Amino acid sequence: MPTDAPETPARPAEDAATPRDGAVRETRASGIRSTKPRQVRPKTEGWQQQKGPDGRPLLQFASPKRGKPPAHLADLAAEEWKARAEELGVPAFRLKQVARHWFTRWTSDPAEMTDLPAAGRDELVAGLLPPLLTEVRRLETDRGDTIKFLWKLHDGALVESVLMRYPGRITLCVSSQAGCGMNCPFCATGQAGLTRNMSAAEILAQVVEANRVIASGALHGKRADDGTPERVSNIVFMGMGEPLANYARLMRAVRTMAAPAPEGLGMSARNITVSTVGLVPAIRKLADEHVPVTFALSLHAPDDGLRDELIPVNSRWKVDEALDAAREYFEKTGRRVSIEYALIKDMNDHGWRADLLAEKLNERGRGWVHVNPIPLNPTPGSIWTASEVDVQQEFVRRLTEAGIPTTIRDTRGKEIDGACGQLVVTEEDERAAAATR
Ligand code: SAH
Repeated sequence: MPTDAPETPARPAEDAATPRDGAVRETRASGIRSTKPRQVRPKTEGWQQQKGPDGRPLLQFASPKRGKPPAHLADLAAEEWKARAEELGVPAFRLKQVARHWFTRWTSDPAEMTDLPAAGRDELVAGLLPPLLTEVRRLETDRGDTIKFLWKLHDGALVESVLMRYPGRITLCVSSQAGCGMNCPFCATGQAGLTRNMSAAEILAQVVEANRVIASGALHGKRADDGTPERVSNIVFMGMGEPLANYARLMRAVRTMAAPAPEGLGMSARNITVSTVGLVPAIRKLADEHVPVTFALSLHAPDDGLRDELIPVNSRWKVDEALDAAREYFEKTGRRVSIEYALIKDMNDHGWRADLLAEKLNERGRGWVHVNPIPLNPTPGSIWTASEVDVQQEFVRRLTEAGIPTTIRDTRGKEIDGACGQLVVTEEDERAAAATR
Protein backbone atom coordinates (compact mmCIF):
# COMPACT_ATOMS: atom_id res chain seq x y z
CA MET A 1 0.00 0.00 0.00
CA PRO A 2 1.48 3.36 -0.95
CA THR A 3 2.61 5.37 2.03
CA ASP A 4 0.38 8.40 1.81
CA ALA A 5 -2.87 6.57 1.12
CA PRO A 6 -5.83 7.84 3.12
CA GLU A 7 -6.21 5.90 6.35
CA THR A 8 -9.91 5.34 6.19
CA PRO A 9 -11.37 3.83 3.06
CA ALA A 10 -13.40 6.46 1.30
CA ARG A 11 -16.83 5.66 -0.07
CA PRO A 12 -16.78 4.06 -3.51
CA ALA A 13 -16.04 6.81 -6.03
CA GLU A 14 -18.51 5.46 -8.49
CA ASP A 15 -21.32 6.71 -6.27
CA ALA A 16 -19.99 10.18 -6.87
CA ALA A 17 -20.21 9.85 -10.63
CA THR A 18 -23.41 10.67 -12.39
CA PRO A 19 -23.63 8.54 -15.47
CA ARG A 20 -25.29 10.13 -18.45
CA ASP A 21 -27.15 6.92 -18.96
CA GLY A 22 -27.21 4.56 -16.01
CA ALA A 23 -28.63 1.72 -18.05
CA VAL A 24 -26.17 -0.77 -19.37
CA ARG A 25 -27.14 -2.88 -22.32
CA GLU A 26 -25.37 -6.11 -22.92
CA THR A 27 -25.28 -8.23 -26.01
CA ARG A 28 -23.64 -11.60 -25.73
CA ALA A 29 -22.26 -13.41 -28.72
CA SER A 30 -25.22 -15.72 -28.18
CA GLY A 31 -27.43 -12.78 -29.21
CA ILE A 32 -29.19 -12.50 -25.85
CA ARG A 33 -29.69 -8.88 -24.78
CA SER A 34 -30.27 -7.85 -21.22
CA THR A 35 -30.66 -4.65 -19.26
CA LYS A 36 -29.22 -4.68 -15.79
CA PRO A 37 -28.36 -2.17 -13.11
CA ARG A 38 -24.87 -0.77 -12.81
CA GLN A 39 -22.36 -2.99 -11.09
CA VAL A 40 -21.55 -2.19 -7.51
CA ARG A 41 -17.87 -1.43 -6.95
CA PRO A 42 -15.38 -1.82 -5.50
CA LYS A 43 -15.45 -5.52 -4.70
CA THR A 44 -14.50 -6.37 -1.19
CA GLU A 45 -11.82 -8.95 -1.81
CA GLY A 46 -9.19 -6.54 -3.08
CA TRP A 47 -6.07 -7.70 -4.83
CA GLN A 48 -2.46 -8.26 -4.09
CA GLN A 49 0.06 -6.48 -6.21
CA GLN A 50 2.53 -8.98 -7.64
CA LYS A 51 5.98 -8.60 -6.08
CA GLY A 52 9.40 -9.72 -7.35
CA PRO A 53 11.97 -11.62 -5.22
CA ASP A 54 13.32 -8.25 -4.02
CA GLY A 55 9.92 -7.36 -2.57
CA ARG A 56 9.34 -4.65 -5.19
CA PRO A 57 6.37 -4.57 -7.57
CA LEU A 58 7.00 -7.02 -10.37
CA LEU A 59 7.61 -5.65 -13.85
CA GLN A 60 7.13 -7.95 -16.83
CA PHE A 61 8.74 -6.73 -20.03
CA ALA A 62 9.03 -9.99 -21.95
CA SER A 63 5.87 -11.53 -23.31
CA PRO A 64 5.20 -15.08 -22.10
CA LYS A 65 5.58 -17.49 -25.00
CA ARG A 66 2.26 -18.80 -26.25
CA GLY A 67 1.23 -20.26 -29.59
CA LYS A 68 1.62 -17.60 -32.27
CA PRO A 69 -1.57 -16.02 -33.62
CA PRO A 70 -2.30 -17.18 -37.18
CA ALA A 71 -0.19 -15.30 -39.74
CA HIS A 72 -2.33 -12.55 -41.27
CA LEU A 73 -1.76 -10.24 -44.20
CA ALA A 74 -1.78 -7.28 -41.79
CA ASP A 75 1.25 -8.63 -39.93
CA LEU A 76 3.34 -7.97 -43.01
CA ALA A 77 4.78 -4.73 -44.31
CA ALA A 78 3.69 -3.99 -47.87
CA GLU A 79 7.27 -4.78 -49.02
CA GLU A 80 6.75 -8.33 -47.77
CA TRP A 81 3.57 -8.94 -49.73
CA LYS A 82 5.37 -10.03 -52.88
CA ALA A 83 7.15 -12.88 -51.11
CA ARG A 84 3.89 -13.94 -49.48
CA ALA A 85 2.16 -13.94 -52.88
CA GLU A 86 4.90 -16.20 -54.21
CA GLU A 87 4.46 -18.55 -51.27
CA LEU A 88 0.76 -18.74 -52.02
CA GLY A 89 1.39 -19.08 -55.75
CA VAL A 90 -0.72 -16.08 -56.78
CA PRO A 91 0.16 -12.81 -58.53
CA ALA A 92 1.04 -9.98 -56.12
CA PHE A 93 -1.95 -7.85 -57.12
CA ARG A 94 -4.27 -10.47 -55.61
CA LEU A 95 -2.96 -9.51 -52.19
CA LYS A 96 -3.82 -5.90 -52.88
CA GLN A 97 -7.33 -6.92 -53.81
CA VAL A 98 -7.75 -8.92 -50.61
CA ALA A 99 -6.22 -6.11 -48.55
CA ARG A 100 -8.62 -3.61 -50.05
CA HIS A 101 -11.56 -5.73 -48.93
CA TRP A 102 -10.24 -5.91 -45.38
CA PHE A 103 -8.97 -2.35 -44.95
CA THR A 104 -11.75 -0.50 -46.78
CA ARG A 105 -14.79 -2.78 -46.76
CA TRP A 106 -14.01 -4.46 -43.45
CA THR A 107 -14.85 -7.89 -44.70
CA SER A 108 -13.00 -11.19 -44.62
CA ASP A 109 -15.81 -13.12 -46.29
CA PRO A 110 -14.66 -14.62 -49.60
CA ALA A 111 -18.25 -14.60 -50.86
CA GLU A 112 -18.11 -10.80 -50.91
CA MET A 113 -14.88 -10.73 -52.92
CA THR A 114 -16.31 -11.30 -56.35
CA ASP A 115 -13.35 -9.60 -58.03
CA LEU A 116 -11.24 -12.66 -57.14
CA PRO A 117 -11.43 -15.79 -59.30
CA ALA A 118 -13.84 -18.25 -57.73
CA ALA A 119 -11.36 -21.10 -58.05
CA GLY A 120 -9.09 -21.05 -55.01
CA ARG A 121 -10.72 -17.91 -53.56
CA ASP A 122 -11.71 -19.48 -50.24
CA GLU A 123 -8.22 -20.92 -49.69
CA LEU A 124 -6.52 -17.66 -50.65
CA VAL A 125 -8.65 -15.61 -48.26
CA ALA A 126 -8.26 -18.19 -45.47
CA GLY A 127 -4.48 -17.96 -45.88
CA LEU A 128 -4.42 -14.17 -45.80
CA LEU A 129 -7.24 -13.17 -43.48
CA PRO A 130 -7.57 -15.88 -40.83
CA PRO A 131 -10.11 -14.94 -38.11
CA LEU A 132 -8.28 -13.33 -35.19
CA LEU A 133 -10.96 -11.91 -32.90
CA THR A 134 -14.11 -13.64 -31.76
CA GLU A 135 -16.66 -11.34 -30.17
CA VAL A 136 -17.66 -12.56 -26.71
CA ARG A 137 -19.60 -9.67 -25.23
CA ARG A 138 -20.68 -6.20 -26.14
CA LEU A 139 -21.67 -3.61 -23.52
CA GLU A 140 -23.22 -0.29 -24.43
CA THR A 141 -23.75 2.92 -22.54
CA ASP A 142 -24.10 6.69 -23.12
CA ARG A 143 -27.29 5.91 -25.06
CA GLY A 144 -25.38 3.87 -27.55
CA ASP A 145 -22.51 6.37 -28.00
CA THR A 146 -20.05 4.08 -26.19
CA ILE A 147 -19.57 0.37 -26.83
CA LYS A 148 -17.12 -1.92 -25.06
CA PHE A 149 -16.15 -5.12 -26.86
CA LEU A 150 -14.69 -8.23 -25.27
CA TRP A 151 -12.70 -10.27 -27.80
CA LYS A 152 -11.35 -13.79 -27.55
CA LEU A 153 -8.05 -14.38 -29.33
CA HIS A 154 -7.07 -17.67 -31.01
CA ASP A 155 -5.53 -19.06 -27.81
CA GLY A 156 -8.38 -18.01 -25.53
CA ALA A 157 -6.66 -14.82 -24.30
CA LEU A 158 -9.21 -12.04 -23.76
CA VAL A 159 -8.86 -8.36 -24.64
CA GLU A 160 -11.17 -5.37 -24.77
CA SER A 161 -11.62 -2.32 -26.95
CA VAL A 162 -13.90 0.67 -26.43
CA LEU A 163 -15.61 2.57 -29.23
CA MET A 164 -16.77 6.13 -28.53
CA ARG A 165 -18.71 8.58 -30.63
CA TYR A 166 -17.91 12.24 -29.99
CA PRO A 167 -19.15 15.25 -31.93
CA GLY A 168 -17.07 15.21 -35.12
CA ARG A 169 -14.99 12.14 -34.40
CA ILE A 170 -15.17 8.47 -33.53
CA THR A 171 -12.45 7.20 -31.23
CA LEU A 172 -11.43 3.61 -30.63
CA CYS A 173 -9.45 2.75 -27.53
CA VAL A 174 -7.42 -0.33 -28.50
CA SER A 175 -5.47 -2.95 -26.56
CA SER A 176 -1.89 -3.75 -27.49
CA GLN A 177 -1.31 -6.64 -25.06
CA ALA A 178 -3.52 -9.19 -23.34
CA GLY A 179 -3.09 -8.01 -19.76
CA CYS A 180 -0.18 -5.74 -18.80
CA GLY A 181 3.13 -6.24 -17.06
CA MET A 182 3.52 -2.74 -15.64
CA ASN A 183 1.67 -3.42 -12.37
CA CYS A 184 0.38 0.10 -11.66
CA PRO A 185 -1.65 -0.22 -8.43
CA PHE A 186 -4.51 2.06 -9.52
CA CYS A 187 -5.09 0.32 -12.85
CA ALA A 188 -7.22 -2.82 -13.05
CA THR A 189 -5.45 -4.23 -16.11
CA GLY A 190 -2.24 -4.80 -14.17
CA GLN A 191 -3.92 -7.11 -11.67
CA ALA A 192 -3.66 -10.27 -13.71
CA GLY A 193 -0.22 -9.49 -15.11
CA LEU A 194 0.79 -9.94 -18.71
CA THR A 195 -0.75 -12.78 -20.70
CA ARG A 196 0.96 -11.98 -23.98
CA ASN A 197 1.77 -9.45 -26.65
CA MET A 198 -0.82 -8.98 -29.35
CA SER A 199 0.22 -9.31 -32.99
CA ALA A 200 0.04 -6.31 -35.31
CA ALA A 201 -2.92 -7.87 -37.10
CA GLU A 202 -4.74 -8.48 -33.81
CA ILE A 203 -4.28 -4.81 -32.95
CA LEU A 204 -5.49 -3.73 -36.40
CA ALA A 205 -8.39 -6.18 -36.38
CA GLN A 206 -9.90 -4.25 -33.47
CA VAL A 207 -10.18 -1.23 -35.78
CA VAL A 208 -11.50 -3.22 -38.72
CA GLU A 209 -14.13 -4.86 -36.49
CA ALA A 210 -15.11 -1.48 -35.04
CA ASN A 211 -15.49 -0.05 -38.55
CA ARG A 212 -17.69 -2.97 -39.46
CA VAL A 213 -19.87 -2.31 -36.42
CA ILE A 214 -20.14 1.39 -37.27
CA ALA A 215 -21.08 0.55 -40.84
CA SER A 216 -23.83 -1.73 -39.54
CA GLY A 217 -25.32 1.25 -37.70
CA ALA A 218 -24.80 -0.24 -34.24
CA LEU A 219 -23.02 2.83 -32.85
CA HIS A 220 -25.93 5.15 -32.27
CA GLY A 221 -25.90 8.79 -31.39
CA LYS A 222 -25.54 11.80 -33.62
CA ARG A 223 -23.90 11.52 -36.99
CA ALA A 224 -22.06 14.13 -38.96
CA ASP A 225 -24.29 15.24 -41.81
CA ASP A 226 -21.57 15.86 -44.34
CA GLY A 227 -22.15 12.56 -46.07
CA THR A 228 -18.69 11.12 -45.39
CA PRO A 229 -18.80 7.40 -44.70
CA GLU A 230 -18.40 6.85 -41.02
CA ARG A 231 -15.46 4.99 -39.54
CA VAL A 232 -13.01 5.20 -36.70
CA SER A 233 -11.17 8.53 -37.04
CA ASN A 234 -9.04 8.45 -33.89
CA ILE A 235 -7.15 5.68 -32.15
CA VAL A 236 -5.88 5.79 -28.59
CA PHE A 237 -3.54 3.07 -27.33
CA MET A 238 -5.11 3.28 -23.90
CA GLY A 239 -6.75 -0.11 -23.70
CA MET A 240 -5.05 -3.10 -22.15
CA GLY A 241 -1.30 -3.23 -22.23
CA GLU A 242 1.80 -1.10 -22.39
CA PRO A 243 2.21 -0.36 -26.10
CA LEU A 244 5.91 0.45 -25.92
CA ALA A 245 6.60 -2.94 -24.30
CA ASN A 246 5.29 -4.50 -27.55
CA TYR A 247 7.26 -2.11 -29.73
CA ALA A 248 7.75 -3.90 -33.05
CA ARG A 249 4.11 -4.96 -33.33
CA LEU A 250 2.88 -1.57 -32.18
CA MET A 251 4.91 0.12 -34.91
CA ARG A 252 3.77 -2.33 -37.57
CA ALA A 253 0.17 -1.62 -36.55
CA VAL A 254 0.67 2.16 -36.42
CA ARG A 255 2.34 2.27 -39.84
CA THR A 256 -0.50 0.27 -41.32
CA MET A 257 -3.13 2.48 -39.69
CA ALA A 258 -1.45 5.49 -41.31
CA ALA A 259 -0.75 3.87 -44.71
CA PRO A 260 -3.20 4.66 -47.53
CA ALA A 261 -5.42 1.85 -48.79
CA PRO A 262 -4.99 -0.83 -49.87
CA GLU A 263 -1.79 -1.12 -47.84
CA GLY A 264 -3.46 0.32 -44.77
CA LEU A 265 -6.36 2.10 -43.10
CA GLY A 266 -5.53 5.56 -44.46
CA MET A 267 -5.76 7.27 -41.08
CA SER A 268 -3.91 10.39 -40.02
CA ALA A 269 -0.93 9.61 -37.76
CA ARG A 270 -1.71 12.65 -35.64
CA ASN A 271 -5.07 11.10 -34.79
CA ILE A 272 -3.29 8.10 -33.29
CA THR A 273 -2.24 8.50 -29.66
CA VAL A 274 0.39 6.24 -28.13
CA SER A 275 0.28 6.33 -24.34
CA THR A 276 3.06 4.96 -22.16
CA VAL A 277 4.07 4.56 -18.54
CA GLY A 278 7.45 5.96 -19.64
CA LEU A 279 9.76 3.36 -21.18
CA VAL A 280 12.44 5.92 -21.96
CA PRO A 281 14.57 4.09 -24.57
CA ALA A 282 11.40 3.19 -26.48
CA ILE A 283 10.16 6.82 -26.36
CA ARG A 284 13.45 7.87 -27.94
CA LYS A 285 13.07 5.25 -30.63
CA LEU A 286 9.50 6.33 -31.32
CA ALA A 287 10.67 9.90 -31.80
CA ASP A 288 12.99 8.70 -34.59
CA GLU A 289 10.37 6.75 -36.52
CA HIS A 290 9.06 9.65 -38.63
CA VAL A 291 5.48 8.67 -37.89
CA PRO A 292 4.13 11.76 -36.13
CA VAL A 293 1.71 10.08 -33.75
CA THR A 294 0.44 11.96 -30.74
CA PHE A 295 2.49 10.99 -27.73
CA ALA A 296 1.13 10.75 -24.19
CA LEU A 297 3.11 10.13 -21.03
CA SER A 298 1.29 8.72 -18.00
CA LEU A 299 3.05 10.74 -15.36
CA HIS A 300 0.62 10.84 -12.41
CA ALA A 301 3.17 12.39 -10.05
CA PRO A 302 5.90 15.02 -10.52
CA ASP A 303 8.10 13.64 -7.72
CA ASP A 304 9.93 10.30 -7.68
CA GLY A 305 8.90 9.57 -4.09
CA LEU A 306 5.27 9.19 -5.10
CA ARG A 307 5.77 8.08 -8.70
CA ASP A 308 7.84 5.11 -7.50
CA GLU A 309 4.65 3.94 -5.77
CA LEU A 310 2.14 4.76 -8.48
CA ILE A 311 4.13 3.70 -11.55
CA PRO A 312 6.47 0.84 -10.65
CA VAL A 313 8.47 1.36 -13.85
CA ASN A 314 9.67 4.60 -12.24
CA SER A 315 12.22 2.36 -10.52
CA ARG A 316 13.92 2.12 -13.95
CA TRP A 317 13.32 5.55 -15.44
CA LYS A 318 12.72 8.52 -13.17
CA VAL A 319 10.38 11.48 -13.58
CA ASP A 320 13.10 13.73 -15.03
CA GLU A 321 14.28 11.12 -17.51
CA ALA A 322 10.72 10.46 -18.68
CA LEU A 323 10.08 14.21 -19.07
CA ASP A 324 13.35 14.71 -20.95
CA ALA A 325 12.36 11.94 -23.36
CA ALA A 326 8.91 13.50 -23.80
CA ARG A 327 10.49 16.87 -24.55
CA GLU A 328 12.78 15.19 -27.09
CA TYR A 329 9.70 13.68 -28.71
CA PHE A 330 8.33 17.18 -29.19
CA GLU A 331 11.62 18.49 -30.57
CA LYS A 332 11.96 15.72 -33.12
CA THR A 333 8.35 15.55 -34.27
CA GLY A 334 6.95 19.02 -33.56
CA ARG A 335 3.97 17.25 -32.00
CA ARG A 336 2.75 18.64 -28.71
CA VAL A 337 3.00 16.04 -25.98
CA SER A 338 0.24 15.10 -23.51
CA ILE A 339 0.90 14.46 -19.86
CA GLU A 340 -1.70 12.19 -18.30
CA TYR A 341 -2.43 12.65 -14.64
CA ALA A 342 -5.10 10.57 -12.89
CA LEU A 343 -6.26 12.70 -9.97
CA ILE A 344 -6.42 10.48 -6.89
CA LYS A 345 -7.91 11.93 -3.74
CA ASP A 346 -5.25 12.91 -1.20
CA MET A 347 -2.58 10.97 -3.09
CA ASN A 348 -1.30 13.14 -5.93
CA ASP A 349 -3.78 16.03 -6.09
CA HIS A 350 -2.05 18.54 -3.80
CA GLY A 351 -1.56 22.12 -4.89
CA TRP A 352 2.20 21.86 -4.41
CA ARG A 353 2.31 18.91 -6.77
CA ALA A 354 0.53 20.96 -9.43
CA ASP A 355 3.13 23.69 -8.89
CA LEU A 356 6.01 21.24 -9.05
CA LEU A 357 4.61 19.72 -12.23
CA ALA A 358 4.29 23.16 -13.83
CA GLU A 359 7.84 23.99 -12.80
CA LYS A 360 9.25 20.79 -14.28
CA LEU A 361 7.39 21.31 -17.53
CA ASN A 362 8.29 25.01 -17.86
CA GLU A 363 11.91 24.21 -17.08
CA ARG A 364 11.93 22.28 -20.36
CA GLY A 365 10.47 25.08 -22.47
CA ARG A 366 7.13 26.57 -23.40
CA GLY A 367 4.40 25.44 -25.76
CA TRP A 368 5.57 21.83 -26.02
CA VAL A 369 3.16 20.14 -23.69
CA HIS A 370 -0.32 20.08 -22.31
CA VAL A 371 -1.66 18.33 -19.24
CA ASN A 372 -4.67 16.05 -19.23
CA PRO A 373 -5.81 15.39 -15.69
CA ILE A 374 -8.41 12.64 -15.42
CA PRO A 375 -10.39 12.00 -12.24
CA LEU A 376 -9.46 8.48 -11.13
CA ASN A 377 -11.84 5.76 -12.25
CA PRO A 378 -12.63 3.23 -9.56
CA THR A 379 -11.11 -0.24 -9.84
CA PRO A 380 -11.98 -3.41 -7.91
CA GLY A 381 -10.55 -3.70 -4.45
CA SER A 382 -8.91 -0.29 -4.45
CA ILE A 383 -9.80 2.22 -1.77
CA TRP A 384 -8.59 5.05 -3.95
CA THR A 385 -11.16 7.47 -5.23
CA ALA A 386 -11.22 10.45 -7.56
CA SER A 387 -10.23 13.87 -6.23
CA GLU A 388 -13.01 16.19 -5.15
CA VAL A 389 -14.20 18.58 -7.85
CA ASP A 390 -12.87 21.72 -6.13
CA VAL A 391 -9.47 20.05 -5.75
CA GLN A 392 -9.49 19.11 -9.44
CA GLN A 393 -10.30 22.69 -10.32
CA GLU A 394 -7.54 24.07 -8.13
CA PHE A 395 -5.06 21.65 -9.72
CA VAL A 396 -6.06 22.85 -13.17
CA ARG A 397 -6.03 26.49 -12.09
CA ARG A 398 -2.46 26.31 -10.83
CA LEU A 399 -1.17 24.69 -14.00
CA THR A 400 -3.06 27.09 -16.23
CA GLU A 401 -1.81 30.05 -14.27
CA ALA A 402 1.74 28.80 -14.77
CA GLY A 403 1.09 28.87 -18.53
CA ILE A 404 0.50 25.14 -19.08
CA PRO A 405 -2.57 24.34 -21.19
CA THR A 406 -4.59 21.93 -19.08
CA THR A 407 -7.88 20.20 -19.78
CA ILE A 408 -9.64 17.65 -17.64
CA ARG A 409 -10.18 14.58 -19.77
CA ASP A 410 -13.73 13.51 -20.43
CA THR A 411 -14.02 9.97 -19.23
CA ARG A 412 -16.37 7.56 -20.89
CA GLY A 413 -17.74 4.14 -20.18
CA LYS A 414 -17.47 4.04 -16.39
CA GLU A 415 -20.85 2.31 -16.12
CA ILE A 416 -19.57 -0.60 -18.20
CA ASP A 417 -16.09 -0.72 -16.67
CA GLY A 418 -14.83 0.56 -19.97
CA ALA A 419 -13.05 3.70 -18.77
CA CYS A 420 -9.29 4.23 -18.47
CA GLY A 421 -7.77 1.75 -16.07
CA GLN A 422 -10.92 -0.34 -15.78
CA LEU A 423 -10.28 -2.87 -18.52
CA VAL A 424 -9.77 -6.25 -16.94
CA VAL A 425 -11.05 -9.73 -17.59
CA THR A 426 -13.68 -10.61 -14.97
CA GLU A 427 -15.06 -14.01 -13.98
CA GLU A 428 -18.21 -13.10 -15.87
CA ASP A 429 -16.11 -12.41 -18.98
CA GLU A 430 -14.40 -15.79 -18.57
CA ARG A 431 -17.75 -17.54 -18.31
CA ALA A 432 -19.08 -15.78 -21.39
CA ALA A 433 -15.84 -16.62 -23.24
CA ALA A 434 -16.11 -20.29 -22.27
CA ALA A 435 -19.60 -20.33 -23.78
CA THR A 436 -18.33 -18.75 -27.02
CA ARG A 437 -16.84 -21.03 -29.60
N1 SAH B 1 0.02 1.44 -20.47
C1 SAH B 1 -0.28 2.69 -21.10
C2 SAH B 1 -1.62 2.74 -21.78
C3 SAH B 1 -2.82 2.17 -21.06
S1 SAH B 1 -3.59 3.08 -19.78
C4 SAH B 1 -0.15 3.82 -20.09
O1 SAH B 1 -0.08 3.55 -18.91
O2 SAH B 1 -0.08 4.96 -20.49
C5 SAH B 1 -4.23 4.55 -20.43
C6 SAH B 1 -4.29 5.66 -19.41
O3 SAH B 1 -5.22 5.38 -18.36
C7 SAH B 1 -2.95 5.89 -18.71
O4 SAH B 1 -2.68 7.24 -18.59
C8 SAH B 1 -3.21 5.30 -17.34
O5 SAH B 1 -2.34 5.77 -16.39
C9 SAH B 1 -4.66 5.71 -17.12
N2 SAH B 1 -5.30 5.00 -16.03
C10 SAH B 1 -5.01 3.78 -15.54
N3 SAH B 1 -5.82 3.46 -14.52
C11 SAH B 1 -6.65 4.50 -14.35
C12 SAH B 1 -7.72 4.77 -13.46
N4 SAH B 1 -8.09 3.89 -12.55
N5 SAH B 1 -8.35 5.94 -13.59
C13 SAH B 1 -7.98 6.84 -14.52
N6 SAH B 1 -6.98 6.65 -15.40
C14 SAH B 1 -6.31 5.50 -15.31
